[in-house]
Amino acid sequence: MRLYQRKVKIVATLGPSTSTEEQIENAIRSGMNVARLNFSHGTHELHLKNIQTIRSLSKKLNAPVAILQDLQGPKIRVGQFKEGQIKLERDQIVRMTTENVVGDENLIPTDLLSLTDIVKPNFKVLLDDGLIELQVIKIDKPFVLLKVIYGGVLKNRKGINIPEAQLPIKSLTDKDLLDLDFGLSNQVDYVALSFVRHGRDIRTIKEIIEKKNSAAKVIAKIEMLEALDNIDEIIRLSDGVMVARGDLAVEVGQSRLPGIQKKIINLCNELNKPVITATQMLDSMVENPRPTRAEITDVANAVLDGSDALMLSAESASGKYPFKAIQTMNEIIFEVEKNEEKYYRLSLENEFLSIPSGIAASACLCALKLNAKAIVCLTTSGKTAQIISGFRPQVPIYAMTNQISVLNKLELVWGLQTLLINDYKTMDEILSQLDNMMMKFGIAKTGDRVILTLGQPIELGSKTNSLYVHTVSDCLVSKLENESLPLRFRS
Ligand code: PEP
Repeated sequence: MRLYQRKVKIVATLGPSTSTEEQIENAIRSGMNVARLNFSHGTHELHLKNIQTIRSLSKKLNAPVAILQDLQGPKIRVGQFKEGQIKLERDQIVRMTTENVVGDENLIPTDLLSLTDIVKPNFKVLLDDGLIELQVIKIDKPFVLLKVIYGGVLKNRKGINIPEAQLPIKSLTDKDLLDLDFGLSNQVDYVALSFVRHGRDIRTIKEIIEKKNSAAKVIAKIEMLEALDNIDEIIRLSDGVMVARGDLAVEVGQSRLPGIQKKIINLCNELNKPVITATQMLDSMVENPRPTRAEITDVANAVLDGSDALMLSAESASGKYPFKAIQTMNEIIFEVEKNEEKYYRLSLENEFLSIPSGIAASACLCALKLNAKAIVCLTTSGKTAQIISGFRPQVPIYAMTNQISVLNKLELVWGLQTLLINDYKTMDEILSQLDNMMMKFGIAKTGDRVILTLGQPIELGSKTNSLYVHTVSDCLVSKLENESLPLRFRS
């Protein structure tokens, strides 16, 4: 199998285990389609270095990579400890403080300044995605006394959840605004907004992006109970969604998570928005070279649920086996995608309310019935390519464009492979470039049938309105040597 044949994409979080140029190159070679920069950690200097490294490797390997900036959002966290971590034992009493101090075994600092006002005795305080559970005993400003219900090792800057408290939070903190400005100035492809609660959170960030004349797309991270009440509006307003299972499980209660994951993915599929399933997918690979059976099944089920992309967090950012984790995810996805029943979500029930939708659906039907080798979508914005992906055709889909930023963005979307073409003015110029690339990359041969979608008149840069059934002509070009091929077409 070659990387371009995998439909579900892989988002890998960069961190200490994937920070050098060699490591990032390894991540791309292993199958990373989208690099997630986690702005809960790291300096702007570090993130800038990563952005520059990704862009230059992407060029060197001829492999588009989308950059996703994940804003910290109003996440509340513990502070720093003298030794970098502490051990909490069951029934131990600890103090949490809002003072800016370094903590120890009996004192946990936090950045939640209103802590003492919003908690009450008996409230649960969950640390590190709920792995550690504390219970409030007493409030004694600036301290809160807590009893350890379930202990464990607590590392610097781990998250805090207090599901019973009303948190006085804004969707974009001052830090987020500075980070966003940095990300947009450095042309990130996607910005993920944490702790989204309402459609208006998405509107606010989109206004800022628009004012900055940026084409960055917005991913809504679904991790709050309140977001579920407004889920339809949030998805409609966003350009994509992340099922952020870490915080979501703590917020909604762990046993509700699988059902909610499926519901969000279904809705995103219906509304044709890319959806990422995230967090702890191969968590044991942070320490071990092999995943558990349950993790293998979780990855497989997220593919079958209809995810566009699956995400690795600590596995690729700080784990011992970052590349093995990406390769493992890659292998599991390939295997699941052999299941033919999951393709062609196409019926008269689908809404074909726009011309591109009608053309996209027809392209999928034609490809199926005419046994085409590929669907090729000539696109300037990537929109029609995304609609075609939504019908989940089994045949490869190539989005062909002369816009590099569009190529990068499409790396997040199910089944889309991209072909960069030179500027064109006529159908002949398009078809000769297409035939040339298909032969050189070994993805079609003379006489193969290809379904092309495009906008006519071509010279006016029209939006998609046409479908053309093309037969690859003999252009006397032979396939490139493996090492000269774009990375994802190599064997
Ligand atoms: C999550 O909570 O699952 C998540 C992806 O968000 P973060 O890693 O930023 O906490």
